[in-house]
Parts: sequence; C-alpha cells; structure tokens
Amino acid sequence: METLQPIPNFSESDLEAILLSKEQIDERIDSLANEISNSYAGKDLTVVCVLSGALVFTADLIRKLDVPTRLDCIRADSYADATESSKPPRIASSLKTDIAGKNVLVVDDILDTGKTLSAIISHLEEFEPSSLKTCVLLDKKERRQVDIEADFSGFDIPNAFVVGYGLDFAEHYRHLPCIGALKAEFQILP
Ligand code: 5GP
Ligand code: MG
Repeated sequence: METLQPIPNFSESDLEAILLSKEQIDERIDSLANEISNSYAGKDLTVVCVLSGALVFTADLIRKLDVPTRLDCIRADSYADATESSKPPRIASSLKTDIAGKNVLVVDDILDTGKTLSAIISHLEEFEPSSLKTCVLLDKKERRQVDIEADFSGFDIPNAFVVGYGLDFAEHYRHLPCIGALKAEFQILP
C-alpha cells in the first residue's frame, strides 16, 4: 500500500510548537542591545554577521545599538556528510573590511556543537582585531563539543532542530517571525 507523504506549507503550521514568539524575541533583543551598548560605551564597534542564519537577528540587533557600528559579513560552510564531519567548518566567504585594531562582535544565530563559531574566531584572530567577542541568539548548551561560550547570549534552548527568524531547513522557514521546532515529518530533504 502506498503511504501518503505529508506536504509542508513552509509556514508556522509546519512547526511542532512555537518555542519563542516574535514578542519574546523582540523583548530579549532590546535587553541584549542594552548590554552590548553598555559594554562598548565610548568605543566603536564592528559587527560581523554570520550568514545566512544570523541575518535577521543582526538586522534587528544593530538597529537597537547605541554605539557607532560598522557591519561586515562572513560565511562558513560545515561539511554535511558524515565522512567529512571531523573536518572543521570552512570559511566560504570572508570579510570585506579591515578589522585590524577594531572592536569586533561576531553575531551568529545559534551555538550548537561550537565548531562553527570557534572556526570563525580562529579565522578572525588572524586579522588582529583589538577585541573579539561573540553574540548568539540561541544556545544549545547540551550539544557542545568545543569549549566555547558566547559573551552575549539571547536564550538557552533544549536540543531540538529549530527554524524561523533566520534559521532554516533547506533554505526554507527563514522568514518566519517566530522560532519553533520543525515537525519531524518535514525534516526530510526532497
Ligand atoms: P555548530 O558548529 O555550533 O554545531 O553549528 C552552528 C550552526 O549549525 C548554526 O550556525 C546553524 O547554521 C546550524 N544549526 C545548529 N542547530 C540548528 C538548529 O536547531 N536549526 C537550524 N536551522 N540550524 C542549526
Ligand atoms: Mg549558521
């Protein structure tokens, strides 16, 4: 007998549950922006957005900062297949600007095993910024494989695959205003 394949809507209806609403995210970003502005008071800042996942978060965060802020972007690729998973993530696209002597804040969507953020930090350290800190919206602490903590962190979340507010599954769901766990039946690549 043929089994019926569920069809995704690529909308909130594909979520098992909403973990963080738009309002909860907005409120937390207000307080994160305050923390960051206080910490860099009297200095200027270069924000490095880790594409593509941190794009939505970075856009909202930088508009709430109260310090002179430059923006640059970086992209890292993790190896998807199991045979390559022991390799560190590759820097697929680096900065456009010179960060030597600058106060750099790397902004990422989620800290999971920690491999991506630590590879990005090692890469950026080579450019000799005067300071290098990290900010993540989400932290899955129980998944960590590398000894790394973010300097600024939005929410600790449990170990579930989440999408929305910049986070994707196969490039879908980034546009959702909230964050939620994707139903298992939609975590299947076409
Ligand atoms: P790490 O190198 O820390 O294991 O992974 C970080 C990257 O994995 C994140 O920047 C993100 O792209 C991806 N990732 C980890 N957990 C999730 C998740 O629950 N949902 C989505 N959409 N991406 C995730
Ligand atoms: Mg990412």
